[in-house]
Amino acid sequence: MERKLCKIAIASGKGGTGKTTLSVSLYQQLKDRFEGKIQLVDCDVEEPNDLLFFSSAKLISSRPVYQLIPEIDTGKCNFCRKCADYCEFNAIVVIPPAGFAEVNSSLCHSCGACLIACDQGAITEHPVSIGDISTYQSEAGDNLAEGKLKIGSAMQTMLIKELKKEDTAGLDMVIYDAPPGTSCPVVATVSDADYVVLVTEPTLFGLHDFKLMVELMRELKIPFGTVVNKAGLGDEEVYNYIRKEKIELLGKIPFNRDFASKYAKANLFSDIPGNILENLKKVADRIVDVICNEIEIPA
Ligand code: SF4
Ligand code: SF4
Repeated sequence: MERKLCKIAIASGKGGTGKTTLSVSLYQQLKDRFEGKIQLVDCDVEEPNDLLFFSSAKLISSRPVYQLIPEIDTGKCNFCRKCADYCEFNAIVVIPPAGFAEVNSSLCHSCGACLIACDQGAITEHPVSIGDISTYQSEAGDNLAEGKLKIGSAMQTMLIKELKKEDTAGLDMVIYDAPPGTSCPVVATVSDADYVVLVTEPTLFGLHDFKLMVELMRELKIPFGTVVNKAGLGDEEVYNYIRKEKIELLGKIPFNRDFASKYAKANLFSDIPGNILENLKKVADRIVDVICNEIEIPA
């Protein structure tokens, strides 16, 4: 049997639920249990911070990512507005009486439609940097990749898609740490995952955003389960919902002040409290034994 690359995404509908804690801790547990090479991919490109937990990791590669932005030469333009009509993203403003035609780069999705629309040869494209993609490794065998969006760029989804195109040769599993929320960058992260671990917390806000994520997973038809972080706080509503919706409860990470303080110091790998470690191992075992093995394909 040849093993296919196993893709696991860790996501949460809401920021602050412990998604980074779980991604980094689970990666560490999986490294010990999975016979194969694993990479942690930080897809939270606006604020990538997984790397902070791996102080000995060294930069292996880094490359800029560019977006092609159209530019209008008003010397050639006849202000017919065809390009603006073609643009689905309202990124082009043409004001004929003022002799004005310009592309708003923050709205442009580089679809190329305006170039096709213009028969005056007035539009050309030029590359604009939207961020960087970097990979890191440590002597302890940690293997990380991250995308970092350039300040002011709104092209999270484009950068995430580019990050996911990085070479995976030699890898057996990737863990995608998704951005928070339920919008396009999250969909771009989880869309090809074999399994998504949804992180939630037993609070009113946690439940509200968890329900949105469950709807999204069902719409995308991606298998998923959940980990309840900060268990012991809040109320039972999230558990009632999990039971009612027959969602797989992978584990509960009990709220623990010492562990929270270790997170604040970017030190999650030593002296993990027993009840937290036990749950992390349980989730890691489920991923290795069932989720990844289920997708074995014949050679
Ligand atoms: S490339 Fe696409 S999104 Fe960008 S300005 Fe042209 S039509 Fe609009
Ligand atoms: S389609 Fe070409 S000529 Fe017409 S407004 Fe746009 S850039 Fe100008």
